[in-house]
This record gives sequence, C-alpha cells and structure tokens, in this order.
Amino acid sequence: MLLAWTLLGLVVGAALNLLIVRLPKRKFPFELPVTCRYCRKPLSFLELLPLVSYVWGRGRCRRCGHRLEFRYLLVEVTTGGLFAALFARFGLSWPLIIYSFYASVFVIVFMIDWQHRRILNVVTYPSIAVALALMFITPGLGAGQALLGGLFYGGLFFALYVIGTMLYRQSEALGLGDVKLALFIGLITGLQGALAAALIGTLLGAVFGLALMVFKRASARAGMPYGPALSMGALAAILWSPWIR
Ligand SMILES: [Zn+2]
Repeated sequence: MLLAWTLLGLVVGAALNLLIVRLPKRKFPFELPVTCRYCRKPLSFLELLPLVSYVWGRGRCRRCGHRLEFRYLLVEVTTGGLFAALFARFGLSWPLIIYSFYASVFVIVFMIDWQHRRILNVVTYPSIAVALALMFITPGLGAGQALLGGLFYGGLFFALYVIGTMLYRQSEALGLGDVKLALFIGLITGLQGALAAALIGTLLGAVFGLALMVFKRASARAGMPYGPALSMGALAAILWSPWIR
C-alpha cells in the first residue's frame, strides 16, 4: 500500500507541474495536449511523468532533444516523497487522504511563490473552502480547534501585514496572499499545530532571508517569499507535531 500511495503521489506531482506552470498564466491547467515548450510536439502521458522521462528518455524531448527542466522532476519526486511520509504517519485512513491533498496545495504554493513571488487566490480560496468543509470530519482536529488555529495564524499575519503597510506604505515584503495562506494553515492544523507551524515557518523564513541577503545581496525588503517558508513549516507540523493525529 505504501508503494501504491507513493506512486499515486508521483502521478499527482506530475499533475501539479501543470498547475504550477499554467495557473500563473491564467490558463486552464488540464487543457490537452501538453506540448514541448521548444518544438511544440504533443507529449504522451508517459512523457508527462518527469521521472519516467528522466529514466527512459534521459530527461530530453524525444523529438527536439531539449532538456526537461529539472524543477519538474523535483516537484514530482517531492510530491511522491511527501505522500510516502504521510502514509508512514497516518496509515491508510481519512487523514492520509485529507493531508495528502493539503500537501499538494503546499507544493503548488511553494513553487509559484518561489518563481513569481505570488500566492494566487485561485489556489488559496478553494483551499480555505475545502479546509472549512473538512474541519468537521478531520479526526483529531474538530471545528473549534480549526477555527482557533485559523484565527491565530491568519490574525498574526494580518497584523504583520497591517504593520508592514503602515511602516513601508506599501507592503512589498508581506502580502495578503501570505495572510490567506496563514489562515488556511491554521484551519488545517488547529491552534497547537499552527503554533508549531508558525515557529518552524518563521525560523525557516529567517534562514531563507539571510541566505538571500548573503547570496544575492538582496535587501531584506526586496520581497522575500514567505509562501515557501510557511508551507514548509505547515508540512513539518503535519508530519511531526503530536497534536495532529
Ligand atoms: Zn521538443
């Protein structure tokens, strides 16, 4: 079963690649055919699985030989790995299905925010809606915990957003997308899980920020993407915090 769930994760990861590329372009993500970006050759189903493509096609388009970008493989393998880790954590159960869906959301948020410095409403709004619907049936969470978590984490980032806007006139560093993401995380982790997610997320954010400043000499204000840090904090809380069962 672990193997089956991991394989499912790999296929889901391949589909997430389509969402990650197409959602920022406001394009319908599952419009077919998907074509090679260089020679426009329509890609077969197997070619859309980066892992298969890398193992059998050495990661190149079969017609024009252009190399498939590494990040497609990265997204697919990461999603497969997350599905495997969630299976190890929850076993075959409702939480496994629910948190595998949420983990997929975090992969999308991470990649799009990393590349475009944006967290899209088309991702956050439906995710928040799903979280509000599922909070009643998620074992070990419950509506009360979910709402408290959302209030805490969403409220924290809304306060940071307001302070940032007052200090800098325009809040470039932290946007409303981050507030919506934090609200979503709070809703799915509950109060204690959200505290853990916030702690880990802020630590990771500080590390990312420092790394950016050191390696790119970016000023701290130049727009550090919080989405990746918050997403990783949330994933860590889901995988390891004792309050999520
Ligand atoms: Zn090609």
